[in-house]
Amino acid sequence: MTAAPGSVQKSEEEWRAVLSPEQFRILRQKGTEYPGTGEYDKFYGEGVYNCAGCGTPLYRSTTKFNSGCGWPAFYEGIPGAINRTPDPDGRRIEITCAACGGHLGHVFKGEGFPTPTDERHCVNSISLKFTPANSDAKI
Ligand SMILES: [Zn+2]
Repeated sequence: MTAAPGSVQKSEEEWRAVLSPEQFRILRQKGTEYPGTGEYDKFYGEGVYNCAGCGTPLYRSTTKFNSGCGWPAFYEGIPGAINRTPDPDGRRIEITCAACGGHLGHVFKGEGFPTPTDERHCVNSISLKFTPANSDAKI
């Protein structure tokens, strides 16, 4: 499933109905999960990470790397799937799902990781839902 940018619109009540309280706190209220606790922090299965809110594919497992920061790290999102918005303090860049606006985490650049982009998408596990490559789901 691929959703066009901004195509998933729900009210706060509708989101509360489909998300767990913790998913709601992070995806819709821009919360952050405690480092080192996320389901995908040290997970390296082959497949695709979809938005936990709307199911849009966001990251491929081939772009995931071990940053040691305590959250899943990716050096590149699926083209067009991720929006970037500077935080009000101007220090960090927030990343959100382009389709539903769900909060994913932040992106950092120029940290010197040996990746093709030298970017680190620092993403909350709870914002993601992994689909293994060998499943029947169409990607
Ligand atoms: Zn989404």
